Amino acid sequence: MTVTKQQVVQWLEHTAAVLNDNKEYLIQLDSPIGDADHGINMSRGFKAVLGKLPSVADKEIGNILKTTGMALISSVGGASGPLYGTFFLRGGAASLSKEELNNEDLLQLFFDGVDGIVQRGRPQLGDKTMFDAWAPALEAMQAAFVNGHDVITALRSTVTAAEQGMKNTIPLQAKKGRASYLGERSIGHQDPGATSSYLILKALLETLQHYSAEHIAVLDTSAQG
Ligand code: ADP
Ligand code: MG
Repeated sequence: MTVTKQQVVQWLEHTAAVLNDNKEYLIQLDSPIGDADHGINMSRGFKAVLGKLPSVADKEIGNILKTTGMALISSVGGASGPLYGTFFLRGGAASLSKEELNNEDLLQLFFDGVDGIVQRGRPQLGDKTMFDAWAPALEAMQAAFVNGHDVITALRSTVTAAEQGMKNTIPLQAKKGRASYLGERSIGHQDPGATSSYLILKALLETLQHYSAEHIAVLDTSAQG
């Protein structure tokens, strides 16, 4: 199974909905160790993405993702805007002229996207940032594909790894971003950016599962008829 450009668009739309639904939660996470704007930033950023999608939905995947990155950079003031913006710009550059993504393409998209986050933010593992969700997620995705798993199975382990990475940020002391100003007082709180990263990955899994379920339902109906 490949990921089609329609599914990429559905993923971005679903991400916008999920981040909007989790706006208060992300604000709450950003309150004790930040400035309580992460939920606002993410929901505003993806609202801007939604506004751009109709004009690029029929373009190739690279174009769709690059437009997403530009929309995030131009609409989000916080640290997360340029970081996620770079993720989608680099992921888009890895997906140029593609109408669908096979497993290798998907891995490359995420690999280059996360490399973009690293280049821009210089996070290291354990710095209590979004990278603490992305690094184990990427490793799990790669391992799943190497082991010959299909994209849904691979994304299940990717999302589980991202969730674990997100939870692992709780006992960490922040070394990057606004939370680092708090020093030891940043300990004991879950990182907001690691949380939104987990939600973005989970949204991709949910999008593909939804599509497969519909697909199976269609097959079932035609088999009965
Ligand atoms: P701001 O910190 O400017 O208010 P947000 O609240 O939107 O921006 O985003 C905060 C999140 O950004 C953090 O929870 C963290 O995951 C991520 N972050 C901040 N600085 C860095 C960095 N240098 N590298 C990677 N991620 C970072
Ligand atoms: Mg903030």
